Amino acid sequence: MSETIFAKIINKEIPSDIIYEDEQCVAFRDVNPQAPVHFLVVPRQAIDKLQNMTAEDEALIGHLHRVITELADQEGIADGYRVVVNSGVSAGQSVFHLHFHVLGGRSMRWPPG
Ligand code: AMP
Repeated sequence: MSETIFAKIINKEIPSDIIYEDEQCVAFRDVNPQAPVHFLVVPRQAIDKLQNMTAEDEALIGHLHRVITELADQEGIADGYRVVVNSGVSAGQSVFHLHFHVLGGRSMRWPPG
């Protein structure tokens, strides 16, 4: 898998607004926010898209979700937020390093576009 812009952020080769990091993941604010709060939770391990996760990644994906709940508290959106994963080009994925969008701070509509 070729290095993506998220690998450069994780490796601190380019700047970003990091709000959390641990040994398994990094979370930073989306550069083009779609809600008052919009951050990305990204595993350090480079999985290109959700569809290509394996059984070995199950604990990692669970950890990312626990981090999401802690950051939702930290960011003041725990009452209601949306978690989005775009898996594949037709879903709108543009960076091929798995990431979870977390959006909050406004009312969300359904269905998404
Ligand atoms: P996706 O389209 O689901 O792959 O989402 C990629 C997201 O990464 C988009 O919401 C972009 O705004 C965001 N993004 C791209 N480059 C950066 C960057 N350098 N720092 C923070 N967010 C970024």
